[in-house]
Amino acid sequence: MNAPRRAPLMPMEEALALLLARVQPLTATESVATFDADRRVLATDLVSALHVPPNDNSSMDGYAVRTADITAPGVVLPVSQRIPAGHFGHALQPGTCARIFTGAPVPEGADAIVMQEDTREVGGNLHAVHVDVVPAPGQWIRRAGEDVTRGAVVLPRGQRLNPAALGMAASLGLARLDVVARPRVALFSTGDELVMPGDVPPQDMKPGAIYNSNRFFLRVLLQRLGCEVSDLGIVPDRRDLTLAALRTAADHHDLILTSGGVSVGEEDHIKPAVQQLGSLDLWQIAMKPGKPFAYGQVRRDAGAGADVATPCHFIGLPGNPVSSFVTFLLLVRPFLLALQGVSDARLLGLPQPVQLPAHFDLPRADKRREFLRVRRNAVGGLDLFPNQSSGVLTSAVWGDGLVDNPAGTTIAHGDAVSYLSLAELLA
Ligand code: AMP
Ligand code: MG
Repeated sequence: MNAPRRAPLMPMEEALALLLARVQPLTATESVATFDADRRVLATDLVSALHVPPNDNSSMDGYAVRTADITAPGVVLPVSQRIPAGHFGHALQPGTCARIFTGAPVPEGADAIVMQEDTREVGGNLHAVHVDVVPAPGQWIRRAGEDVTRGAVVLPRGQRLNPAALGMAASLGLARLDVVARPRVALFSTGDELVMPGDVPPQDMKPGAIYNSNRFFLRVLLQRLGCEVSDLGIVPDRRDLTLAALRTAADHHDLILTSGGVSVGEEDHIKPAVQQLGSLDLWQIAMKPGKPFAYGQVRRDAGAGADVATPCHFIGLPGNPVSSFVTFLLLVRPFLLALQGVSDARLLGLPQPVQLPAHFDLPRADKRREFLRVRRNAVGGLDLFPNQSSGVLTSAVWGDGLVDNPAGTTIAHGDAVSYLSLAELLA
């Protein structure tokens, strides 16, 4: 009899497409203070009720002039008024100029600003100035509405907010913003070997015990993506307890995220438990690190008052810390952004790769697409972390990026490779 054929691993881009196809964006919204809206996703278009800036204003400290008065350098103009920012001057009379400061509205009649450095005071007082240049009409004037025009959609629904966008919302006068509700995520770690830092000091750790590191980065990564996390702690490697944890978590969460226990050993209970309580649509991806990755759905229980129309998503991450970290960034992150209705397609796939020269050799090709932990060096190339094992979290701390290396590809020193920035994935 032939040995049973192993099912082929799913290519990573197919896995990502499958995850995104399963998403129905959350419809619940909430109003939050603009101050608290960083990394949240807009639920409505932001339409400007005003021009930004509201008036033509000076972009320099200097003098507002009529260019018709200055046909040659050296013209002397009396200073007829003084306009600081936040004040509105009166119409500029021909043959005069106005002292003006950055951000102050340009007075009616003036059509250019001469910067202070291009003038000299006449007789040491501020009653008149020599203008040493011939100004071009419009120079150093910021036009009303040049940033935003009244009625324009400034930020669209589905925009993920960042500090610049918050400033923009504030410039429109918005103190609160309607954003998509936070995804509710239940997080648990599996593994009888896991101990929480703080529970047992290093010198008292039993042989075989390790600290739970995944829980720490996963919780924070979820929070950075705007999720409300229910951290259910460590679930022991037992079928009954795994089933119970999945069952209760499904009722009131949008996603259950687990780490570990999703491989092929008898102690890996996650896969059969999800199959028993729902369905498993994806298991094992052709990527390194990160092969033992699973996606499925867990039914909700009407008796518990849960919304049974939509099942709870399930994502099982590998136990090895680097695998967990990398698959979260490359697969879970786009999934969670899509769940919040993010519209920018660039955020729903891998970051835009940058082609950079490898300053290392990778003589052995792997059957799987690899994501190598690398770091940009001072001479414009990439260094490789020497130990690429999926258990070595140091590689992810040291690295500032991942090289996306296609299956079956070796790398020689000097080859151009595709670099994905970790900073972008962690934003
Ligand atoms: P598993 O997928 O459960 O077989 O775990 C694979 C490897 O990852 C094992 O060496 C585990 O000890 C390790 N591991 C699993 N979960 C965690 C965790 N939360 N923190 C650190 N290491 C883990
Ligand atoms: Mg385990």
